[in-house]
Amino acid sequence: MDNYSIYDLTFEQLTAWVLEHGEKKFRAAQIWDWLYVKHASDFDEMTNLSGKSIRLLKEHFTIGTLKERIAQKAKDGTTKFLFQLTDGNLIETVLMPHEYGLSVCVTSQVGCNIGCSFCASGLLRKNRDLTSGEMVEQLVAIQKRLDREENGERVGHVVVMGIGEPFDNFDHVMDFLRIINDQKGLAIGARHITVSTSGIVPKIYQFADIDWQINLAISLHAPNNELRSRIMKINRAYPIEKLMEAVDYYLKKTNRRVTFEYIMLKGINDHKEEALQLAALLQNKRHLVFVNLIPYNPVEEHSDYQRSEEEAVAAFYGTLQKKGINAAVRKEFGTDIDAACGQLRSKQIKKAKVRRS
Ligand code: SAH
Ligand code: SF4
Repeated sequence: MDNYSIYDLTFEQLTAWVLEHGEKKFRAAQIWDWLYVKHASDFDEMTNLSGKSIRLLKEHFTIGTLKERIAQKAKDGTTKFLFQLTDGNLIETVLMPHEYGLSVCVTSQVGCNIGCSFCASGLLRKNRDLTSGEMVEQLVAIQKRLDREENGERVGHVVVMGIGEPFDNFDHVMDFLRIINDQKGLAIGARHITVSTSGIVPKIYQFADIDWQINLAISLHAPNNELRSRIMKINRAYPIEKLMEAVDYYLKKTNRRVTFEYIMLKGINDHKEEALQLAALLQNKRHLVFVNLIPYNPVEEHSDYQRSEEEAVAAFYGTLQKKGINAAVRKEFGTDIDAACGQLRSKQIKKAKVRRS
């Protein structure tokens, strides 16, 4: 067995594989349908395939390797999953019930090397990238769980905002997006998918050059280089001017709106001055951008950061509004379960270390 996951393949790759192995082209469509429409868990379920085809698939691929270790459901219906990968690594995925439907927040790497100073995921350096199949499986595993509950619910939105920096795992993330966007499969519409980046500038250009309608979110968090470099060291490599040039290129190329994420950190980036700077920074593209003000989820290890006071958030929002910048304060999900993304995983790893020592 080659031990590749069948979920790693885009439809084009599966078709090429099928042809290479002497099968008819329509086999690929049949297999795809079993994987992404019927949500099969085993090759043996694929009853319209010949025994020989099933054996061939089994020889080359695995199907479904994620193990659900924990599922925490919050009062608002948000469910946070801790999955174990075949090599024992742990990742998190979150299912969120929005008024417009179910959305899943997907992890793209085991840990993160970008090391933003406020983030739980960055505490543990990157162990490895996820394969495209491991990202696809996060969705498939959750969809299968929903199927079992039999209330006809379907995941319709995806955000790549879990652990990791998606643009540091660019090729796998792009394949993942192609797979979940495929109309004959999971069919998650491009406009319903958002990828969030800390601002890896060359990859923003590359992303803009792909001809699709997937949304881009930029984690800005500070409106000037001095402050941004202090809280996000990636800003030293890709300062705000370069980031904005890349955003301008993206806007021109795609005609899509860009979302800027801005975590509200008490006494750090939440003053009127920063609101005015942010408004000035975005003024020339204000019809094309949207600012998401994000309540900070406190992380034990980063005790120097606290969530901004409600009045500070309201005042910041008000300043942006007055300057004509579209903004919203992000709704929080699952506040009664482990809050920040990356926390459930880092807690489990800490527990395991305590058990071992
Ligand atoms: N690496 C990508 C995507 C994953 S992080 C990125 O940084 O954009 C997804 C979002 O969660 C980012 O905007 C990130 O800054 C934010 N985030 C990280 N830690 C957080 C915390 N403790 N509370 C609230 N948001 C946080
Ligand atoms: Fe990585 Fe994003 Fe966390 Fe920064 S905020 S450390 S880029 S996951």
